Amino acid sequence: MDFFDLKKQYQNLKPEIDAAVSRVFKKGVFIGGEEVESFEKEIAEFLDARHIVSLNSGTDALYLALRALDVGSGDEVITTPFTFIATAEAIAASGAKPVFVDINPKTFNVDASKIEAVITKKTKAIIPVHLYGQMAEMEKILTIAKKHNLKIIEDAAQAIGSERIIKGKKKNAGTIGDVGCFSFFPTKNLGAYGDGGMVATNNKVLADKIRILKTHGSSPKNKYNNLVLGINSRLDAIQAAILGVKIKFLPKWNKKREKLALWYTKNLLGVGNIITPFVAENNMHIYHQYVIKSEKRDKLREFLKAHKIPTLIHYPTPLHLQPALKYLGYKKYDLPETEQTSEEILSLPIYPELSRIDQKCYHRYHKRIL
Ligand SMILES: *Cc1c(COP(=O)(O)O)cnc(C)c1O
Repeated sequence: MDFFDLKKQYQNLKPEIDAAVSRVFKKGVFIGGEEVESFEKEIAEFLDARHIVSLNSGTDALYLALRALDVGSGDEVITTPFTFIATAEAIAASGAKPVFVDINPKTFNVDASKIEAVITKKTKAIIPVHLYGQMAEMEKILTIAKKHNLKIIEDAAQAIGSERIIKGKKKNAGTIGDVGCFSFFPTKNLGAYGDGGMVATNNKVLADKIRILKTHGSSPKNKYNNLVLGINSRLDAIQAAILGVKIKFLPKWNKKREKLALWYTKNLLGVGNIITPFVAENNMHIYHQYVIKSEKRDKLREFLKAHKIPTLIHYPTPLHLQPALKYLGYKKYDLPETEQTSEEILSLPIYPELSRIDQKCYHRYHKRIL
């Protein structure tokens, strides 16, 4: 058994995926074109977002969102230390300084009540990450951003299709802040067969800026008139065609993940000292990862490994303690909730094709060890 199994999904969709890929080969348009445009339209409708700009990765989405919001050298951007490195990497790449705020250990997301304490004159933006597929406390973050005139970039790389009820209305992850950033890395809930990403926004000026930045800063009217220094970040037509097939299944896949998660939770409740995931009120969790906590995490992990059951740790080292970010000056114990959480978390396999039989065997082993 593998932690991820991307082969099963392909087997289930083979005729449609193969047809989409061969359509692109026959057309001979591999960058931009109809396939990319039609996928952008489809996902805009799915998310109820006005503008979608497809890109080469989720990391580029974060970087270009910052650039389009004119965040750069001398600025500070507030985010969570409990995320994948890309979040902070994009901030650093823009020239700005990442500033970390500790997490709520129940939801694993940034603790919004601790944000205001780190705001300075240099703060330009907040990047909440909707970790594992559950949205951060966006109401509080929106209020803080408004009060201090800050931009919000949502890192929704793990949360495509996740929802939260805000002021009585269902809102999609990545459509609440100024810009939402998404990744189509193969193991994400909507994964390409290679790299891919996008931004979603309701702000046309921002979308246009990102479109220029993603194509070398070229003027939309004249490719060889470079208005600003940009990068090259495009979603391939082949990937767009594949994603166009897969998007139709995303709601069903997200539901399946939720079902599997509920089954895990029901069966792990009261087993040893395991803490099952907490879903905050008004949130719809899409379980990009199913993450439990245990004080005996390492022992549990070893035992499962001995029984050929794969687990992963997302993420073992909080960003403020990463060697690459040492220059920021954080020390151990600076962000205690994050540090403790990173020692207790364990991700169990979860993907739509995971069978109940696979799950049952985890349950049995958990019971025996604890
Ligand atoms: C995957 C991920 C990214 C980066 O996406 P890529 O497409 O791999 O560049 C950024 N942030 C988070 C939280 C992620 O999980």
